[in-house]
Amino acid sequence: MSEFVEYEKGGWEAVIGLEVHVQLKTNTKLFCGCSAQFGAPPNSHTCPVCLGMPGVLPVLNRRAVEYAIRAALATGCKINETSRWDRKNYFYPDLPKSYQISQFERPYCEGGSLTIQLEDGSERLVRLTRIHMEEDAGKNVHDARGDSSHVDLNRSGVPLLEVVSEPDIRTAAESAAYMRKLHAIVRYLDICDGNMNEGSMRCDANISLRKRGTETLGTRAEIKNMNSFRAVERAVNHEIERQAKRLNDGESIVQETRLWDADRNVTRSMRSKEEAHDYRYFPEPDLLPLEIAPEWVEEIRKTLPELPDEKRERFQKDYGLPPYDAFVLTASRELADYYEAAVSAHDNPKSLSNWVMGDIIRIANERSDGGEIDYADLPVSPENLAAMVKLIDDGTISGKIAKSVFDKMLESDDSPTVIVEREGLVQESDEGKIGTIIDSVLSSNADKVEEYRGGKDKLMGFFVGQVMKETGGKANPQVVNQLLRDKLAS
Ligand code: ADP
Ligand code: MG
Ligand code: ZN
Repeated sequence: MSEFVEYEKGGWEAVIGLEVHVQLKTNTKLFCGCSAQFGAPPNSHTCPVCLGMPGVLPVLNRRAVEYAIRAALATGCKINETSRWDRKNYFYPDLPKSYQISQFERPYCEGGSLTIQLEDGSERLVRLTRIHMEEDAGKNVHDARGDSSHVDLNRSGVPLLEVVSEPDIRTAAESAAYMRKLHAIVRYLDICDGNMNEGSMRCDANISLRKRGTETLGTRAEIKNMNSFRAVERAVNHEIERQAKRLNDGESIVQETRLWDADRNVTRSMRSKEEAHDYRYFPEPDLLPLEIAPEWVEEIRKTLPELPDEKRERFQKDYGLPPYDAFVLTASRELADYYEAAVSAHDNPKSLSNWVMGDIIRIANERSDGGEIDYADLPVSPENLAAMVKLIDDGTISGKIAKSVFDKMLESDDSPTVIVEREGLVQESDEGKIGTIIDSVLSSNADKVEEYRGGKDKLMGFFVGQVMKETGGKANPQVVNQLLRDKLAS
């Protein structure tokens, strides 16, 4: 890949650790009763607590902790019975208190791992360092005219998980696969709405290079501001090559924070890397340590749904699907539900998998306008898709006709049976009728019949094509083939 000239030339290996912020979909914020909903008029979801007024006190949202525990259980983390809230101090206009309540010294959760699946079917384990809870900051909104900026504090105090990976990731594709897996898990757990374009999952990537075969970590740069799977992949690739070029040229990597510019496909230096001591972390005096009772954890464990890895294995076992199909179909809970609804309506798992992975996802992709697919709103109901495959399986329509039935199904909610009747698409299997058409095709192509009989087998395709053309594609291909063979042999 030409993109990796410098990387290949230098014999480098990339070392990547991701920090992902996951917005929890609680009704209210982490420390006050304001709505945590996205999209309200600026500053309408605010109160003295999340506006950072002096003299107010935070009150912890129990539901946010429950969601955090769900995430910890799903990733096999060790949950600390006692953890602590810390103040992370920094100044920025979107942070009215001038500190963020976070967890630093002792997070609620440590260890754990994610298994990621790659395009080639291979798997890799990525260890997690920790997950901690924190509150989100507000948002600076820059005027389109460019002469003023505004601050919207609706997001201030919305609960976040920060999921920190060990530097176990090696490529941009693995980085995106990791994000996908984490996205699938939090969606399955129903603790995050997963709307990446609204910032519900944001990724920072720490990237360094080292010579292949060596162990010591190199100096890293941190890339911020990636909020789609594609952006993560592009930004990481870009940064790997940028660092390789510098190192090949004998320059060193500056430990810094860089910003991904999705419009221009480049990373830009934002600031030199801050260290923990820059934030003057200290224990939050307004909150008690967080105590998580083991009994509560066990109660929550019982409510966990089937998770992506488990579902994938079940799909392989129950439906006899190849690993790739099972992986694609379980990437989203809605997609998996869609598929299972279709299979329960018509028992042909592989054919339905082909249609879902092919045409359904293709159309959903086209409709997503370059964004993420909305799996909750897939084209064609699973019942209609199943009914269409049933019509193929019982010989009513050919696979070819099915394509046009499918196209019609995209235009309305009419069932395939209705469409087939209305459009006169029923497959013709009547040997008498097909035979008559074959006879006329053969007699008007007598020269080709001679050639075929003289050994030019390839002409079979031509005859089949002619018959199909005469029948408007409606002839049953098996019947056509059989009759043609018989008649040409006689
Ligand atoms: P900070 O909060 O300062 O960003 P941490 O030291 O906790 O930093 O690391 C954050 C992330 O950076 C983790 O995902 C970790 O795996 C990753 N990381 C740390 N050192 C390196 C390195 N040299 N190269 C690549 N990733 C690294
Ligand atoms: Mg960081
Ligand atoms: Zn509030």
